[in-house]
Amino acid sequence: MSGKKQQNVQEFEYKAEMKQLLNLIVHSLYTHPEIFLRELISNASDALNKVRFSQLTENQAEAEGGELKITITLDEKKRSFVIEDNGTGMSEEELIANLGTVAKSGTLGFLQALKEHQPEKAGIDGNLIGQFGVGFYSVFMVTDEVTVETKSSGSPGCRWRSSGEGTYTIEKIDREKLGTKIAFTLKEDAAEFAEGYRVESIIRKYSNFVDFPIYLDNKRVNSITALWQQPKSDLKEEEVNEFYKFISVDYQEPLDYLHLSLEGVVNFKALLFLPKEAPMDMLYQQGALENHGPQLYVRKVMIQHECKDLLPEYLRFVKGVVETEDLPLNVSREVVQNSPVMAKIRQILTTKIIAWFESLAKEQPEKFRQFYKAFGPVVKIGLNTDFTNREKLIELLRFESTTTDEGEYVTLREYVGRMGKDQKEIYYLSGDNREQMLSNPNLEYFRKKGIEVLLLVDPVDIFVIPSINEYEKKPLKSIEKADIDFAAGDDGEKDALNKNMIEPVLRIFRETLGDRVEDVVESHRLVNSPVTLVGGKDAMDPQIEKMLKMMKQSEAPGKKILEVNPSHPVVKNLAGLCMLNENDPFIRTTMNQLYEGALLLEGSLEGTAEFVARMTDIIEAATKQAKA
Ligand code: ADP
Repeated sequence: MSGKKQQNVQEFEYKAEMKQLLNLIVHSLYTHPEIFLRELISNASDALNKVRFSQLTENQAEAEGGELKITITLDEKKRSFVIEDNGTGMSEEELIANLGTVAKSGTLGFLQALKEHQPEKAGIDGNLIGQFGVGFYSVFMVTDEVTVETKSSGSPGCRWRSSGEGTYTIEKIDREKLGTKIAFTLKEDAAEFAEGYRVESIIRKYSNFVDFPIYLDNKRVNSITALWQQPKSDLKEEEVNEFYKFISVDYQEPLDYLHLSLEGVVNFKALLFLPKEAPMDMLYQQGALENHGPQLYVRKVMIQHECKDLLPEYLRFVKGVVETEDLPLNVSREVVQNSPVMAKIRQILTTKIIAWFESLAKEQPEKFRQFYKAFGPVVKIGLNTDFTNREKLIELLRFESTTTDEGEYVTLREYVGRMGKDQKEIYYLSGDNREQMLSNPNLEYFRKKGIEVLLLVDPVDIFVIPSINEYEKKPLKSIEKADIDFAAGDDGEKDALNKNMIEPVLRIFRETLGDRVEDVVESHRLVNSPVTLVGGKDAMDPQIEKMLKMMKQSEAPGKKILEVNPSHPVVKNLAGLCMLNENDPFIRTTMNQLYEGALLLEGSLEGTAEFVARMTDIIEAATKQAKA
């Protein structure tokens, strides 16, 4: 901090990132100035909650100011706005730490998201604003100068003042009351926020469920109800939806909710929600859910905003509130974490939430699809981390397949149910998109035989599915591996080359490709393509390989086996050429071309110059013949 003293008023300069934030807030959020009110009320409510907490834990008497509350006073004529709370207040040091720097990760996250979303192009949407608390500084959208008077227990009162342009001042003042009072004159174009009915409607919209009374010009405006404490039958859908929007700061309604009231080994009540969409950036980023979770209340006091210990990581996108009487109030984070009560609550919640998903799947399949689309990739992580519930999670899995339409799903149970009686394995293929997968030559055999193949389009699948190994005693197998059982596949190859004819082709293929492949073998899976590449029995899934390569984790990709289709005209022609003159260079040109063509289809051909040059040679040869 850099302080300049001038009588008892000290001037400070904001840190650079602070200036950047202020700038962004004023220039990017201007379309939703009303959220300043939500932010100020939420800060006041946090400060009040801290007082409530210490009253209960330290057996302190009622706060000096009596009822814990938030008071808003407006003056339309003067365009003045005052919001006051009798919460903890701030000392001078806290003022500097809290209102002088961007300390909060949420704010930084907001900055980041703004950058990524290019708000100047897209126009900043309600969703983005909703997901981050942008904090106290949003007040500079509606005013040019703010005065904060505050006093915390054991410190003298302070007045903080800033016009949000690089500096702020702090001076000591006489103030007896604990708490914080924030006052400012509204800009002309923000005059509406001095109108009672307008402010009331904003409070109802964003802050109706704040846990302390809010008085607007002496009239109580919010309805505090701990909805999760009410019997399920009393819950009104509309109110529940509003409550969800309030706690999750989502602009959309929830997809579904679950009310729980448990009595027994542990006692707790919960109101849990599934959002309709996954919040931005939250899903694929590793550890993104690490610090999320429902709110934890103990005996009517909020203990943690995002209590991660309530749920395993793969379920932490579930929003809501959990309240229990079974934890002591003055618990530290570590105690919460290690408490057997917590472990029990977590275990029960997990079971109930999975049962909730199951019942959605059964009773409201449309909702389930929407849920699965948004959160399936996260829930799948549980397969590798939650072995207690693994079987149930496997039942929740959904896949596209060669039999389903795009965007339609099949379960493993359904797949097995419609397997032919000769089919012993469950087949899958992974890839970037459905269309590309459907043109994979390795599918030809399965097509011809009418065998369903699961299409793994979610990138998470290949990290999860192979670990299932088998389902209902049927092994799960990638059709890109060499060890598939094609026992039933011998018909339809009547016009295939016989052993003596194919052998030289395979041998010359091996000579030509050298150590670029592990082996060259006769194929039983191809119908329309001359060759294909498959992984050896122990090879990695090609998708994983591609990913590792992208992440530069693996340099040398595992060698593949080239399979050659003995029924294909090109292969038959090659066999003919081999009989005539094994040393004809055209044979090798063609073989190289076939091999690289297979690489190209797989998406792993590096550099196409040679491929195209060779193709030109081949076309030249073909057209010469035509001329002759
Ligand atoms: P956030 O509330 O998200 O942390 P803010 O920028 O809104 O970020 O506020 C920064 C900090 O200032 C708060 O975390 C809190 O410590 C303090 N603060 C803000 N308003 C109040 C208030 N009314 N009473 C006590 N402390 C407050």
